[in-house]
Amino acid sequence: MHSSEWDVVVVGGGAAGIAAALASGRSGARTLLIERSGFVGGVSATLPWLGFHDQRYQRVVRGLADEFVGALGRAGHASAITLDPKCGSLAAVHSHYWKVLALRLLREAGVMVLMHAVFVDTVRRGDRITGVVVESKSGREIVSGRVVIDCSGDGDVAARGGVAWEKGRTEDGLVQSPTLVFRLGGIDDDAFRRACQNPAFNYREWLAPYPHLFTQMAEKLETVDTYVLGGFAGLVEQARDAGDLHVPQTRIVGVKLHTRETPHELSVVMTRVLGLDPTDVDSLSEAYARVYEQVPELIRFFRAYVPGCEGTHLVEIAPMLGVRESRRIMGDYVLTAEDLVAGTRHEDDVAMGGYHIDIHRPSGSWVSSRNVQAYGIPLRALIARDVDGLMMAGKCISATHEAIASTRVIPICIAEGQAAGTAAALAALSGRDVRSVPVAGIQGALVAAGAEIGLHGLERHPDADSWPELPLEETDAAPDAVIADSAWLT
Ligand SMILES: Cc1cc2nc3c(=O)[nH]c(=O)nc-3n(C[C@H](O)[C@H](O)[C@H](O)COP(=O)(O)OP(=O)(O)OC[C@H]3O[C@@H](n4cnc5c(N)ncnc54)[C@H](O)[C@@H]3O)c2cc1C
Repeated sequence: MHSSEWDVVVVGGGAAGIAAALASGRSGARTLLIERSGFVGGVSATLPWLGFHDQRYQRVVRGLADEFVGALGRAGHASAITLDPKCGSLAAVHSHYWKVLALRLLREAGVMVLMHAVFVDTVRRGDRITGVVVESKSGREIVSGRVVIDCSGDGDVAARGGVAWEKGRTEDGLVQSPTLVFRLGGIDDDAFRRACQNPAFNYREWLAPYPHLFTQMAEKLETVDTYVLGGFAGLVEQARDAGDLHVPQTRIVGVKLHTRETPHELSVVMTRVLGLDPTDVDSLSEAYARVYEQVPELIRFFRAYVPGCEGTHLVEIAPMLGVRESRRIMGDYVLTAEDLVAGTRHEDDVAMGGYHIDIHRPSGSWVSSRNVQAYGIPLRALIARDVDGLMMAGKCISATHEAIASTRVIPICIAEGQAAGTAAALAALSGRDVRSVPVAGIQGALVAAGAEIGLHGLERHPDADSWPELPLEETDAAPDAVIADSAWLT
């Protein structure tokens, strides 16, 4: 029987929670990770990983994210990290081997992982969060922690503990549209690549206003098997006009994937509904019913319309709906779009990001984007406001709707998790509140563990000069399409 008293309790075993628990466990803190599913990885266990580099191809995330893709890559379960003009960089990651690796590393670090264990409530004494209530096959129990880290993606611990949070856009509270991701196999790589290289298909809309950058990228496609897709609007329109496609999506969105064991695949990120409230069970349930229905139609679309996909087949549907945005816990600092665009650094930075502000439009089609510069994520954005004992990492850090649209990608969530786990462990082991741990000590521990926090300048990728670079001031010109009322959840 596991203990009920821990130094650090992490709620949620997605990318952020894995990193938080691992960093805490490796720091010597007695660490418990609580996960409601039968695997760790959360949404990251279905997707390629984007944003190790900023849009100038400077490395902004290292540390645990690097360790994970490195270990997976050496075993043939991840691609090399390749560059991309909008997303900075990406790696294809084999979803199942990632789950295997993560669980193994957690156990090796001495982390107790409770599976099929659902966080149901927060224990709060005055201004301190002291533990959580967990429901599992064994029944209901209280576990206490000197520090609790909310990595639930939904800010569940904060919400139940009466800690301030926000959700969605300021004007209407709508969150980014969610997607049930699936993977297709059996892609004819050469035929698909040729279509991407043909400007008529406009496979990557961001490059269209810059023909010389498109030509440069088309040449680069000869050298990589893993690359991002965001376009093909003409094909989608053709299928919609023919009555063959009703999904409220106007572009092919996804990633061409390739690892040694899973070559010739596409990650398809096109199912979609509008108006989801990810904290409402009825809304979530209706969303699931809708997006599952969209999968077969999209597969038919790929077979009938997309070059190189004629013989494709379904490989996997993600084990959970991809909720891009939910509650954002308010912390001692709220990261904003202005911070990201200006590339602001803070004295207490414990992680970095450089991924563009990538908003899957909450009430329209396609995405809105703003370019950013390598920015710092301060410790204060990982500490919940007005309480002691509660930190957060991943999708629910203290950031605005716009800023979270950049910080939400997997490598950055891992970096936040590593930072929160390290800080929490140092606090718990020294018997202090995290706010009174000298930040230099936390930063020193992170640097020693290989994390990038920008103290000594950032390294540009050695091949950077041969890749297209989008202008920072590039504007988001793609118009919003009219989306049928039926796309909205009632
Ligand atoms: C559709 C979609 C496509 C994306 N595409 C990419 C991409 O290509 N590349 C990229 O880098 N990023 C991508 N992202 C962003 C990125 O995948 C996520 O933002 C990131 O993985 C979030 O990690 P997380 O750990 O914060 O949250 P999650 O992955 O949501 O993890 C939360 C974990 O907490 C658990 N949990 C929740 N509530 C409870 C509870 N009450 N009790 C116990 N456990 C609980 C969940 O089961 C889950 O394991 C995408 C996101 C979405 C939604």
